[in-house]
Amino acid sequence: MEYINILYQFVRGDLSNEDFEKYIYNDQLIESHISNSLYQSLIEANFKDKNTVADIKNLINDFLLNNYTPKCKCCLIRNLDRSGFGSDFSENIFSHLKKVKIKGEDYWWISLYDCNVCHQVWLVAQDENDDDFYFMRLDNTQIQDIKDNNWPMIFDNYNNLSTIISTSSRFSEY
Ligand SMILES: [Zn+2]
Repeated sequence: MEYINILYQFVRGDLSNEDFEKYIYNDQLIESHISNSLYQSLIEANFKDKNTVADIKNLINDFLLNNYTPKCKCCLIRNLDRSGFGSDFSENIFSHLKKVKIKGEDYWWISLYDCNVCHQVWLVAQDENDDDFYFMRLDNTQIQDIKDNNWPMIFDNYNNLSTIISTSSRFSEY
């Protein structure tokens, strides 16, 4: 099921156009996993054209939602992402995330969240200046470090958050 993960990485913006194009040409199996029409669209696409890439992402997104409807939104959240308070995207994300640890009173805006569906763990900062949440996808090493109270420092500067992640997730509008 690695190809589903790769398709999601591309759609959400964590895999570059160049790397995705290489993957499409090099993976012998992808053709058998997706529909003929989608495969043709991918093979024929000019990945250097911005509008084409946007169209391709929409096609893949439709394919994924119809065939592999995710039970949570983690696969749509970029490794580093931003989403507004009260947006549908944020509401959907937090319906499955549970706060499991806080960084401490000096860092009241930073918490650790665990997805109760897929068990992805997220570092989340809550920015009340811009009314935005910031997300960082954590790997097992980072999670273990946090259990030892060794937190990533990426969100530590509260007034700097909006410069770390300047653009909202493309899914925030949905
Ligand atoms: Zn999840």
